[in-house]
Amino acid sequence: MPKQTNCSFCGRGKNEVQLLLSGIDGHICNDCLTQGYQVIQEELAPEKRTKERKKAQKFQVIKPMEMKKYLDQYVIGQDEAKKHLAVAVYNHYKRLTQTKSEDEVQIEKSNIIMIGETGTGKTYLARTIAKMLQVPFCIADATVITEAGYVGEDVETILTRLLQAADYDVEKAETGIVFIDEIDKIARKSDNPSITRDVSGEGVQQALLKLLEGSIVNVPPQGGRKHPDQKLVAVNTENILFICGGAFDGIERHIAKRLNSRPIGFSGDDTFFEAFDKDQMMKYVSAQDLKSFGLIPELLGRLPVVTFLNSLDKEALLSILESPKNALIKQYYKLFKMEGIDLSFEKEALEYIVDQAMQFKLGARGLRSICEAIIVDAMYELPSSTDVKDFTITLSYAREKFERTVFHQMKRAA
Ligand code: ADP
Repeated sequence: MPKQTNCSFCGRGKNEVQLLLSGIDGHICNDCLTQGYQVIQEELAPEKRTKERKKAQKFQVIKPMEMKKYLDQYVIGQDEAKKHLAVAVYNHYKRLTQTKSEDEVQIEKSNIIMIGETGTGKTYLARTIAKMLQVPFCIADATVITEAGYVGEDVETILTRLLQAADYDVEKAETGIVFIDEIDKIARKSDNPSITRDVSGEGVQQALLKLLEGSIVNVPPQGGRKHPDQKLVAVNTENILFICGGAFDGIERHIAKRLNSRPIGFSGDDTFFEAFDKDQMMKYVSAQDLKSFGLIPELLGRLPVVTFLNSLDKEALLSILESPKNALIKQYYKLFKMEGIDLSFEKEALEYIVDQAMQFKLGARGLRSICEAIIVDAMYELPSSTDVKDFTITLSYAREKFERTVFHQMKRAA
């Protein structure tokens, strides 16, 4: 009689199981195999999870030119800023992968400062970079921070937001990007070191130093003021990339003054620079001008990359409306499409929207509110109508709707 083949683990015969695999001198059935797999999963799970997390945390290192190409899909113009940002971010993440010094050359952090009028895309650039790299990102406003002990927020609360963006995963937060807005508003009031205390200007700049340079900072996980019984989370800022932004209103005067005082190459004649407009002047911005604007040298030392954003002209605003991947107009098309309506804009209507945005001097930021004001009636009425299949926003429609808004009346009152 031929020998019966059994599972070496549960002893069941071949005819009692669905599958029996044979080894060198034993067998295993499908049930025992499944069970074994589950045991392995349970035993090795913690290690496996950390491995997976580590793998997920490994940010994608994307080359600067690819980075710029990605940014181009969302952000219109600002080539100079994109280039600087791409290189700085690339170097920053290369720095994270460097092995501890074989040759004693340590790549230093490349925190960035971006100068540009409101609504030119500073925050948007930083946010788009963070999205591309899939790292935690947060925005902080420099004006709400005060020196410890004074009314306002402690500087550490900036990192609370980053922790929240990383779902309280400290390791993940430690590779994130922080955008600090309105850095120009904490400039000290004069170029001389202060004699009296300046708790919302120079004091905050001093407080920011410890975040920017890379140190262990104790962060209140829920934000707010630190108090003695609070549990604090230690966050190492060494690998956090800080991007600061500000309008630095009037900085062109500092640039002109510096360039004028150069002994060679220029005549020293003030009128020479009057021929340049602000954007042309911004090309020459340097850390020295930021210092005379009121940023302290220690802070500037920790923000080695200085770049600028151009103010947006009519052409740029038009293309912001229409061209980026998630352009405003495309979003409205989609919203209407979902109602079965083909929406279109007359070219003149788009130009009208851009003209209004320019008059408000809000950069691209104003485009959305103006579009909303024009389109809200259509969005309110059309979903209830059954017979409208297409809808065109003409110049006269846009003008009529906009002129009725508070927005427009505000402009007339001004
Ligand atoms: P700020 O320079 O004041 O930080 P933001 O980046 O917040 O300005 O810009 C406000 C909004 O305007 C953004 O969310 C984005 O939709 C739009 N925007 C601004 N600049 C650009 C640009 N260059 N390209 C595309 N969209 C832009």
